[in-house]
This record gives sequence, C-alpha cells and structure tokens, in this order.
Amino acid sequence: MTAKFDFQFPDHLSDLVLLDCDEVLLNWTGAFGCWVRRDLGIALNGDEPLDFGMKLWFPEAHRERIWDYVMTFNTDPGLGFRTLEPLPGAVEAVRALRESGHRIRVITACSTEAPIMASRLDNLAAVFGPDAFEDVDFVRMSDSKAEKLSRHPPSVWIDDRPGHVIAGVEAGHYGIVMEQATNRHERTDTAYAALPWIEGWSTFLPHIGALPRALRADAGLPVPG
Ligand SMILES: [Mg+2]
Repeated sequence: MTAKFDFQFPDHLSDLVLLDCDEVLLNWTGAFGCWVRRDLGIALNGDEPLDFGMKLWFPEAHRERIWDYVMTFNTDPGLGFRTLEPLPGAVEAVRALRESGHRIRVITACSTEAPIMASRLDNLAAVFGPDAFEDVDFVRMSDSKAEKLSRHPPSVWIDDRPGHVIAGVEAGHYGIVMEQATNRHERTDTAYAALPWIEGWSTFLPHIGALPRALRADAGLPVPG
C-alpha cells in the first residue's frame, strides 16, 4: 500500500529546502531525448524512459552506449545540457518558497568536473534567477548524496530517486519523492512505499503555506535559524 502524502510537515524543520535538480527542477530527460533523436538519429521507444538506466528506451543496438551518450550530452554545453528547461511548476514553486521565507539549496549528482558544474550553475541562474538558490552541492553521477545531505539541518528534501530520498531521511530530513516516468514502477516497492510521494509541483505548490517556516512567518512568530 502506497502512503498518501498528507502534507503534515514535522514542525522541527529548518527554513532550508533541499532540492534535486534533474527531474525535479530541470527537465534533463526531455532535452537528452530530443538530442538523441535529432542529432544521433536514434528512434527511442516511447516519449519517456521508464527506468533510470533508460535501457528499454533505447533500441537494443544502442544499449551498451547509453552512458557514453549521457557523458557526451552533459559535457558539451552546445548540445543542450546548459539550457535545460524547467519542469512544469518549478519556477513558480521556487518563487513561492523564496517568498515564504525559505532558503533553497540544490544537491545534484551531475558531476564534479568544473565545466559541467559551470553549465549547471549558468542554467539554474538563467531559469530561476541568480539569487534563487543559496548554493549548489555537486556530487559525481551515480554517487551517494548522503555526505552532502548530512551537512544541513533538518529540511524538506525532494528528489526523484527514491534512494537519494532515503539517504536524506537517514540524515534527518523530511524526504519526499517526486514521481516521474522513470520511478513510477518503484512507488509500490516495499523499501519506498512508506515515503511521501508527490506527482509534480502542482501537487506540492498549494501546500507550501503548510511548511513550518511559512506558518511561523504568517503568524509573525520568531523563526528558528
Ligand atoms: Mg533527479
């Protein structure tokens, strides 16, 4: 049985909100798929990958090269990695969080190589504004975010990879999974079913006022640092 998110946030959360980037703020999959179809001429199976490894999205003849394609796309800023578009509602959600007094920090597993990090920072600033985020924490692709997560006080933490959400919960955060085509099949997994899941920013946006920080700000009460 999958837990339904009731937006009852624990009241010990800080004023910080931690957000993943790809498939939470920015639409990496859409841009990558567009490039694969257009520039590589590969006919992908369906509109979206149905798993993180994208194995079934690619024709069998290309499956061994998926990692190479990902690295090429992320490394060459001219291919689209530097100009990813926001997911629906992401810009509005970031603005609403900021206006309700929250700090926002991004934790992204795209790379720790300088050119890729620079592309990501440029992209985030262009889409969300130069002051939207307090900072961005980078880890290498496929690496754990646990160490970065452990540096921050208890916060809302949203990622589309359930494993990263679990790492956040273990670090004391209130972890939420953002559902995407790639993780939908994991929603009923025993390890992840008890986590709160949201279907997108449209699910979350109306409830930003329920965050402890927002409630205190509304009531004019002191906000814990
Ligand atoms: Mg992600």
